[in-house]
Amino acid sequence: MNFRLLRNLRLPLAALAGLLFLTGCPSKPAETSAPTAEAKLPKAPVFNADSAYAFTARQVAFGPRVPNSKAHIATGDWLVAKLKSYGLKVMQQPFDAMTFDGTNIHARNIIAQYQPQAARRVAIFGHWDTRPFADNDKTHKNAPMDGASDGASAVAVALEIARVLSQQPDSLAPNVGVDFIFFDAEDWGHDDTTQAKLKDQLAGSGTDSWCLGSQYWTAHLLPASYKAEYGVLLDMVGAKGGSFTREETSRTNARGPLDKIWSTAAQLGYSDFFRYEDTGGITDDHVYTNKAGIPTLDIYDHPTYGTDYFPSYHHATTDNMSIIDRKTLKAVGQTMVQSLYVD
Ligand SMILES: [Zn+2]
Repeated sequence: MNFRLLRNLRLPLAALAGLLFLTGCPSKPAETSAPTAEAKLPKAPVFNADSAYAFTARQVAFGPRVPNSKAHIATGDWLVAKLKSYGLKVMQQPFDAMTFDGTNIHARNIIAQYQPQAARRVAIFGHWDTRPFADNDKTHKNAPMDGASDGASAVAVALEIARVLSQQPDSLAPNVGVDFIFFDAEDWGHDDTTQAKLKDQLAGSGTDSWCLGSQYWTAHLLPASYKAEYGVLLDMVGAKGGSFTREETSRTNARGPLDKIWSTAAQLGYSDFFRYEDTGGITDDHVYTNKAGIPTLDIYDHPTYGTDYFPSYHHATTDNMSIIDRKTLKAVGQTMVQSLYVD
């Protein structure tokens, strides 16, 4: 993912001033108030944080999941097998793409459907690839990165949701079908800040250098003519002290689901993670799933106040298992499971 402020420098000054205020004010962020009345939540299955932690570690153990690498292929095969083992209907969408630096990559999106016959559907999105270079790192800018939070954690939370749902008897199944859609090649993008001297070979082509998998999927929907009531993109949801804000594109396109999920989190006692703070838009896969007509919100790690837009581990070698915390995985996973049972 990428911070969109730099792109917005081309926008009118009024819009820019709004963004600068939003990101440049450390003490008093825009806020909406948390719900006060506590509704009784319907019964929902328990999300197992140990399991989600193990799924994160397993992906990291394959090595960096950089497209064209053996670890990438092995991880994709493992994900497909895992999803099939839960009885889900699994589809793969292979595609080739060129990255901003002219590399031709072989990639695939992975889609798995729980209760594929259900008319009402919710999509859970994430990206399963990792960035090929830790360009935000203080010293190892060309090194690949583990992507424990940025990549593995979202897929791990989604896998655990799939596992838990697959174990429920029909009488305890939610009223919606759930589609787990893992995008490839999200993170091989051109960063305006760290790669200012490098030419983005995709600039002006109509293809954004970020989010190649979701752009491909949006242009070639699988399942065909895919529709969902709403979608939730998970991205960087495993780090200790994780904090999730109400991002602009999410508020604009998926306000209802955003409110439902934040309210559910508050009722479960996770307001420390799901904060009632409005923040500016970012470039991430939800930009494209919204274009595909699926109202999608993005749950991503945004530092608590201050001027940084992404956490310190973002695109750095410090994004490894040492920062992964079961409490964060649990807060996100349990909120997501519970929200599937709330109409
Ligand atoms: Zn990233």
